[in-house]
Amino acid sequence: QQAQDSHSNFALYDGQRFGDPATNLALMSRMMKAIKAGGMELHYQPKLNLRTGRFEAAEALARWTDPEQGPIPPTAFIPLAEETGRIRELTEWALERVARDQLALQKAGHTVTLSVNISGALLCDAEFASHAGRIAAQAPGQLIFEVTETSLVQDTKRAAQTMNQWARAGVQMSIDDYGVGHSSLAYLKSLPAHELKLDRAFITDFETSQRDRLVVRSTIDMAHNLGLQTTIEGVENADILPALQAMSADWAQGFALARPMRLLELVALFQRQAEDGQTLVKGAASRS
Ligand code: C2E
Ligand code: MG
Ligand code: MG
Ligand code: MG
Repeated sequence: QQAQDSHSNFALYDGQRFGDPATNLALMSRMMKAIKAGGMELHYQPKLNLRTGRFEAAEALARWTDPEQGPIPPTAFIPLAEETGRIRELTEWALERVARDQLALQKAGHTVTLSVNISGALLCDAEFASHAGRIAAQAPGQLIFEVTETSLVQDTKRAAQTMNQWARAGVQMSIDDYGVGHSSLAYLKSLPAHELKLDRAFITDFETSQRDRLVVRSTIDMAHNLGLQTTIEGVENADILPALQAMSADWAQGFALARPMRLLELVALFQRQAEDGQTLVKGAASRS
């Protein structure tokens, strides 16, 4: 069942891990070329601190534009890179780029915590784990590694070991897309995580369903009781921010707040924020 898209061919690959092997191989070799030749970029989606009402962090998201096929979304090439073992090279490239961009931000006067998405399979790659730990140790406390909940349930013990190793190197660990998998509380409790990112499915009916609001609130409470900060993903409507603040959610991210953007635009956003002191929402710092 292949979606039709008249503008590009990416829909052929989208979400399809086991497509035609020759096509997949060709796509992966073009991806490796893009990484080396500059066709792969990182965009950054800002994270809003709901206590201060200010953007204080951002998540790196891979963006690939193929010269022939145009933009190819991460949902198409990440799963394929995972299947074909190329995800390690992509992630090492991303980590190095993020470390460099973080320095650029710092030079511009902005200390920003940056998140990097790490595929679950890499938690079982000892060499990658050490390499990533070394990069992170250069900016202790300023990098977040996001690992999806579903990828964590595969080899629990191993995952926890690697997360501990990174946490010792000063990395904050985040559980991404929480709510899509089926982690038990006991399991989450055993992981050295700092943040829970609630999947955007949590808030699709936030305004219309009291039940959904209750689920969000109790998930935030549970996270806090486990010592985890919470990020609400996929906020497409800024009207819900006050309610999220009232529930003591820590961070919000979504198209209504800021879209993923190039580094230069991110620097400009932090610059504007520093200059005009404007905040997107009233800070919630004074709430009791
Ligand atoms: P994710 O880590 O959960 O990232 C959030 C995704 O939601 C991003 O899609 C982002 O553009 C999108 N998003 C943000 N705000 C909104 C919103 O308000 N509404 C909607 N509908 N979507 C929103 P993107 O960039 O296409 O990435 C998709 C997934 O691909 C990511 O999900 C992540 O799992 C993976 N990914 C992206 N870049 C990388 C990477 O460098 N390495 C790895 N391993 N995975 C990556
Ligand atoms: Mg993420
Ligand atoms: Mg997510
Ligand atoms: Mg996701």
